[in-house]
Amino acid sequence: MKRTLITGAAGFLGSHLCDRFIKEGHYVIGMDNLITGDLKNIEHLFKNENFEFYHHDVTKFVHVSGPLDYILHFASPASPIDYLKIPIQTLKVGALGTHNLLGLAKDKNARFMIASTSEIYGDPLVHPQTEEYYGNVNAIGPRGVYDEAKRFQESITMAYHRFHGLDTRIVRIFNTYGPRMRLNDGRVIPAFMGQALRGEDLTVFGDGSQTRSFCFVDDEIEGIFRLLMSDYTLPMNIGNPHEITIKEFAEEIIKLTGTDQKIVYKPLPKDDPMQRQPDISKAKEILGWEPKVGRAEGMKKTFEYFKTLSKEELEKTDHRDFSERNKK
Ligand code: UDP
Repeated sequence: MKRTLITGAAGFLGSHLCDRFIKEGHYVIGMDNLITGDLKNIEHLFKNENFEFYHHDVTKFVHVSGPLDYILHFASPASPIDYLKIPIQTLKVGALGTHNLLGLAKDKNARFMIASTSEIYGDPLVHPQTEEYYGNVNAIGPRGVYDEAKRFQESITMAYHRFHGLDTRIVRIFNTYGPRMRLNDGRVIPAFMGQALRGEDLTVFGDGSQTRSFCFVDDEIEGIFRLLMSDYTLPMNIGNPHEITIKEFAEEIIKLTGTDQKIVYKPLPKDDPMQRQPDISKAKEILGWEPKVGRAEGMKKTFEYFKTLSKEELEKTDHRDFSERNKK
């Protein structure tokens, strides 16, 4: 039986990965310090004999007894509001955490994968973004703590690969959505869903002409799994290339949720990328992968999830003053 360590296991992507690897017949060790993760996301796994959970912060020395075949490092705050609230932890988990886990992978002779991000392209001057593009990142802006940690993470992973011959994979994840997204993380989808369910107006930042390309979580997990199992060791984009402006997206959500909310405009946060779309030619060619779930279907499933949240949970949002704070 393969043994797989997944960090960030109680988070959005981490918890879906735990489900997937257990389904593939792996023994899964989930690790999380629960700063942004939520045990609710993996509650259903606690009774599974092929799952165990370590409450641990990977920026401290990581010990796991027994062999490991795969290590997936998915622990990190991953939304602009989190980078503002916990900037040092964001830097540490990408830098020190990755170093600790690379050491563990080397010791266990395990295949190692890091969750990189489209953020390493910054506010991109090349469109759509190919893996060869070096990016346009502001190191000292509000997103710098995440972007630079992720760039360092890629760099140290390639160094372990080249210098120590470690078997490594780097997935560059673009905006992903679906059930278990954290309601109050400030990201646009939970923000709009929460607003629709609370009967508030939808807050579009800037004039809404900035674009994103949203990938449904099942597609993203499939791409990540295929990349891990492939023998491709350079970074690979995994995301949905179907691009939309944030204003159009807000209009779609109003239609989907059947509410009569209006759109209100707030200042655009600093360094908010104006456009983002993955070039997925490599994933198509090398993994035979492309997204299958369209936005209408994926958003419907996501809305069904948000509808299951209690009234108290819906009220627990602190993203409302986000664009104000982010201006500084
Ligand atoms: N956004 C928005 N209203 C919100 C939250 C976000 O218009 O209430 C915008 C944000 O400025 C950005 C886009 O939606 O242009 C996606 O933001 P998100 O934080 O989800 O992800 P990222 O910027 O990291 O892609």
